[in-house]
Amino acid sequence: MGQVMEPLIVCENLVKIYSLSGVEVVALQGLDLSVQPGEVVGIVGASGSGKSTLLNVLGGLDRPSAGTVRVGERDLFKLSDAELDAYRRSQVGFVWQQTARNLIPYLSALENVELPMRLTRRSGVERRRRAGQLLDTLGLSPRLDYTPAQLSGGEQQRVAIAVALANQPQILLADEPTGEVDTATAAEVYAALRKTNALYGMTILIVSHDPNLSQHTDRVVAIRDGKTSTEMVRSGRQELRDTPQPVMPAQQPGPEPQKPQEFEELVVLDGAGRLQIPRDYLETLNIGDRVQLELRDGHIVIHPVAGRGRLAASGEEIRPRPEELYLPPDQAPESEGNAWIERLRSRVRIARRAASPSQDEQSGHE
Ligand code: ADP
Ligand code: MG
Repeated sequence: MGQVMEPLIVCENLVKIYSLSGVEVVALQGLDLSVQPGEVVGIVGASGSGKSTLLNVLGGLDRPSAGTVRVGERDLFKLSDAELDAYRRSQVGFVWQQTARNLIPYLSALENVELPMRLTRRSGVERRRRAGQLLDTLGLSPRLDYTPAQLSGGEQQRVAIAVALANQPQILLADEPTGEVDTATAAEVYAALRKTNALYGMTILIVSHDPNLSQHTDRVVAIRDGKTSTEMVRSGRQELRDTPQPVMPAQQPGPEPQKPQEFEELVVLDGAGRLQIPRDYLETLNIGDRVQLELRDGHIVIHPVAGRGRLAASGEEIRPRPEELYLPPDQAPESEGNAWIERLRSRVRIARRAASPSQDEQSGHE
């Protein structure tokens, strides 16, 4: 992805609030994300951090509450109910964790893949041919007539991927597709997703708890408290598609992919200059609700402030605030104006160092 392209997916300051019997839950609180066409992006985060909400909004299953969410030409905020339905049916493929949600139990693999095409103008013959091709591509031609119960977990998820691709969607959204399978089967599912990406250039978002997720994706984005907090990118601009593809399933999945790759973790900086400081950093330095910033040549130093730590002098606990930090543009040198914030806009590199307790309260943290 050397050249600059228009992103296919753009979320800016995306907010989703659920109202549940009068109680409001802020599931996404100002999330920023941009995905290039043909990218495979992993999404990780604690349970309840908003991963499924993000996929549901991107897939047109839920409406955003505020902010921007664009997929291709479409501003999902502006679509009517009918347009959103049409978008979901024709532009989005879903793969869920639970097979029961992906596949109809009494239909064969082939019939399952044909089903979504019934909503289109394709003839029966065409539907059957395309379903057969998709299943063949995913290594399932010997299984066309099997019902889900007759298939292994990995085969079921591969059929689910074929179902999701049936109507040639623009994006494929997979919510914990390997959540219920073992490691070897997970590798089989990832190989199928990668094949989809390699063959059709499919743009794919995969939510997973799999610690090896970064091996199967171009980039892994972490969500914390409804915001993108950090992302893992391949260092040295290696591209996943330049590395050998794992061989497609067969009965045994291929060996765990490739040589070890190097990743670096970048902190996401939003358009307003906010970033999330890792909780363990805050705890290590006993940082509470205020900090001091200092612009030094080439970097910004964050200093804890005496008396504003999480633990007050008395030892009494102070309620932690969201670990947001606003870097006000007026901290920038006069001559530079806002240029510095623009330069840093999307990414701030943080030095990853072992969190060691600081001897000196005032010592900086860079
Ligand atoms: P994750 O997929 O990361 O586990 P979710 O996106 O499912 O997180 O949930 C984010 C937050 O939104 C949670 O607090 C969850 O309880 C809440 N939430 C999700 N869906 C709904 C809903 N339909 N109604 C009310 N609250 C919801
Ligand atoms: Mg979820």
